[in-house]
Amino acid sequence: MIKTGSQHIASLKDGRQVYINGELAGDVTVHPAFRRTIGAVAKLYDFQSRPENLDVMTFEMPDGEGALANRIWQLPGNYQDLVTRRRALEAWTELHAGFLGRAPDHVASCLAGMFMGIDVFRNHDEARAAALADYFRFARANELYLSYAILNPQADRSKAASEQQDPFLTAGVVDEDSSGLTIRGAKMLATGGIMANEVLVTSIQPLRAGEERYAVSFAVPMNAKGLKILSRKSYEQAASSIFDNPLASRFDENDAILYFDDVKVEWSRVFIDRDVAMCQKQFHATPAHVYQNYQAQIRLMVKMRFLLGIARRIAETNGIIGFPQVNETLGMLAAQNTMVDALVHAMEVKGTMQGDYFIPDSHTLYSAQVLTQQLYGQVVNALRELAGGGLIMLPSSVRDFAHDELRGLIGKAQQSPVCSSEGRVKFFKLAWDAVGSEFASRHAQYEMFYAGAGFVTKGHSFRTFDWDRCTGLLDRMLDSYSLADELASGKPMAA
Ligand SMILES: Cc1cc2nc3c(=O)[nH]c(=O)nc-3n(C[C@H](O)[C@H](O)[C@H](O)COP(=O)(O)OP(=O)(O)OC[C@H]3O[C@@H](n4cnc5c(N)ncnc54)[C@H](O)[C@@H]3O)c2cc1C
Repeated sequence: MIKTGSQHIASLKDGRQVYINGELAGDVTVHPAFRRTIGAVAKLYDFQSRPENLDVMTFEMPDGEGALANRIWQLPGNYQDLVTRRRALEAWTELHAGFLGRAPDHVASCLAGMFMGIDVFRNHDEARAAALADYFRFARANELYLSYAILNPQADRSKAASEQQDPFLTAGVVDEDSSGLTIRGAKMLATGGIMANEVLVTSIQPLRAGEERYAVSFAVPMNAKGLKILSRKSYEQAASSIFDNPLASRFDENDAILYFDDVKVEWSRVFIDRDVAMCQKQFHATPAHVYQNYQAQIRLMVKMRFLLGIARRIAETNGIIGFPQVNETLGMLAAQNTMVDALVHAMEVKGTMQGDYFIPDSHTLYSAQVLTQQLYGQVVNALRELAGGGLIMLPSSVRDFAHDELRGLIGKAQQSPVCSSEGRVKFFKLAWDAVGSEFASRHAQYEMFYAGAGFVTKGHSFRTFDWDRCTGLLDRMLDSYSLADELASGKPMAA
């Protein structure tokens, strides 16, 4: 049986220690800060389990005796497999228009990439590799929703993790025994963690020799004893209604700091044990980093389409669609949208076999990251420019419509050549939630940083580019003439 929404909701009633607004949240599935977004995730699982969607969304697990799993766990063996898997990710993302950055397909893609590179783990340590392989199969069979926390908390970024005032600011090993490791300290930033089943914890930031304590990779359930989940402000809870904040009220995936208050991790869930180099290799010597970020670009491609829909609708709603300058803005947005789309397809077409698996092209992926980190802000700005004050000249809340006189006045003040006053207000409230509200602003930050700061993604682009091809061209041109030949020709200035 494939997982359903109600099964996912039930799996979150596990006593996890989520803190918000000065208190323990209790059951997150009914808490006003989280319940609707958890409902949105549940709809993903309901979608995959509908008979008409099984082909698109699922595949038969190898050795699973016919049992199905979501394609997010599929390991593409050729180009066509990759495209089939992408279609599943795309279909899922359409249900949230790309606003769940860390929906279940993100970390599943990372873990699948690690599993594809299991030999890298074997070379590190056979026992840890076996733990990772078992965990991958366990997560796939049980359709776990995984989040991850792979960054060390900001404090003094000019200093290494071991040089911070508190050696346990960053989560690290404080003890070990025959059953496993004990972890103490903090990690940022488990997006989606509050509504996930488990979290993968490791360090993607380079560590130095001597910082082995932080160089671990492991997974724990979100209700692990001692795991404290510190929620940021909930935009879902702050939303006054669905009508007023249709996105924030239902797609606020949350981003939580995790504090490991001496959390015990069994050896069966430890994938890297205090090895600085291996922490980098797990992402970059396996397809993990490429697969997790390929998923992110598929998601962004869908989100861009949604934003383009808003742009077009603004122009229609305000009667500006016929202006040449507006067409120019829309034409530019369309071209930018198509670039994002084309880059996803290029990653696939330029993909290569690595061992048994087909891997999207890494440089195309990193180019897409660098470009879209900057593009997102430009697109949001273009939408704001198209909309003008329409994003602001809105009734204070849905309750204004419940007041007879106010409803009448709204009808007089909110007009459009293409829709009713209610339709206009409904649309512009949604547009504001996508580009201007606190929720939207968090999304701008997300798109700028989810894959690392700009200097990090540009570093990946620099590292993976085929420089030889370019310098080879240059060298061939330089080799086609020489000072000595010119001088020997006797007519150095005549050419
Ligand atoms: C909304 C959101 C969701 C996130 N979700 C997750 C998640 O699910 N899981 C997870 O693990 N992480 C998550 N993150 C964290 C994300 O991975 C980091 O924000 C990102 O890697 C950048 O690290 P940082 O925030 O510490 O910024 P920093 O590394 O501190 O960089 C901030 C700025 O400081 C400057 N700077 C810092 N260091 C240098 C340097 N060495 N050289 C030059 N300039 C420098 C640059 O100007 C840079 O832009 C999320 C972040 C956001 C904003």
